[in-house]
Amino acid sequence: DHTIANVDPELWSAIQLENQRQQDHIELIASENYASPAVMEAQGSQLTNKYAEGYPGKRYYGGCEFVDIAETLAINRLKELYGAEAVNVQPNSGSQANQGVFFAMLKPGDTIMGMSLAEGGHLTHGMALNMSGKWFNVVSYGLNEKEQIDYEAMERLAREHKPKLIIAGASAYSLHIDFERFAKVAKEVGAYFMVDMAHYAGLIAAGVYPNPVPYADFVTSTTHKSLRGPRGGVILMKAEFERAINSAIFPGLQGGPLMHVIAAKAVAFKEAMAPEFKTYQQQVLKNADALAKSLIARGLRIVSGGTQSHLMLVDLRPKGLTGRDAETLLGSAHITCNKNGIPNDPERPMVTSGIRLGSPAMTTRGFKETEATKVGNLIADVLDNRDDPATIERVKAEVKKLTDAFPVYAR
Ligand code: PLP
Repeated sequence: DHTIANVDPELWSAIQLENQRQQDHIELIASENYASPAVMEAQGSQLTNKYAEGYPGKRYYGGCEFVDIAETLAINRLKELYGAEAVNVQPNSGSQANQGVFFAMLKPGDTIMGMSLAEGGHLTHGMALNMSGKWFNVVSYGLNEKEQIDYEAMERLAREHKPKLIIAGASAYSLHIDFERFAKVAKEVGAYFMVDMAHYAGLIAAGVYPNPVPYADFVTSTTHKSLRGPRGGVILMKAEFERAINSAIFPGLQGGPLMHVIAAKAVAFKEAMAPEFKTYQQQVLKNADALAKSLIARGLRIVSGGTQSHLMLVDLRPKGLTGRDAETLLGSAHITCNKNGIPNDPERPMVTSGIRLGSPAMTTRGFKETEATKVGNLIADVLDNRDDPATIERVKAEVKKLTDAFPVYAR
């Protein structure tokens, strides 16, 4: 018997506990989702055994004829899904996809412009401790007084600093991003334009969020967030950059590609082309909106006034709570989320005044507006009764009823 249970009972136990946690908790971390059994089967397949440095048809190892089929399927499906001229499906993560673009197009010391982490951007868009912040001269844009991207300031900064690369995309911004406007100023100042669509990729594939591909030189993404594939990254680009990007990923940054993950990406892209995926993403939007409205009705403030995507930032100051405390309190009631800084946050990054909530995972398990609204009220019940263990217990029991009614993986 070569099952994990038999070979490594200690590890098996950890996996079982994690499976149960995923089943029993309401998952509201905006960057998480539940991959399908088919995606996980591909990721658990024998393709993990294969070395395939290079690209389909041009490998540095023998025996690649079948993994070539897998990678070619992933490439063709990804191009079709977003209307891209060229793609690279080998980046091992979203961060490595971004590094691939930087390594191909930039030199240390070049100026890049991205959204500041404190106002919704990602670490890899120029945060001081990240490679992007250490190796490049970073100019950051952020939000205006309405908590919308300050396009005027962004344009002013672009004209003043003439960055070599402008990055749009965010990890904690709930509204649509005007990619066309970014592209215009990039062209004007002679910058390359990159969009990191990691958070919105699933919505974009389904046509319910603006597609940056027509406007950007490069579009990077993760495959495991709203897109619901395996953990990993991809780069979409204009054909003229294909050679430079391919050589930046391999041999520039990576060795052998993860062929089992690439196979799982192919499965996820196929799933994303099905009509059910559009229905799913439409529900993701409806659920995020229902959740935001229920929280507003209970006296919480949503940053930017609401959401046009799968996510929202909740300002906890009306309840006199920090993000750290809210994350812990909600966790004790089996509602999982992450603390997150809000614009002009008075608290430290490890404390914060906000939480970030997202609807992709709860929508995958079948929640609709009724359940999303219920979740909003359960969150407010916890936050309003932080010192009352009986309320936490009651909410935990309500969570159990909901999660039992909507199993993540049919057993
Ligand atoms: N880009 C954005 C916008 C993200 O939100 C994330 C994930 O948090 C990443 C890139 C990085 O992806 P990964 O965690 O796969 O490196």
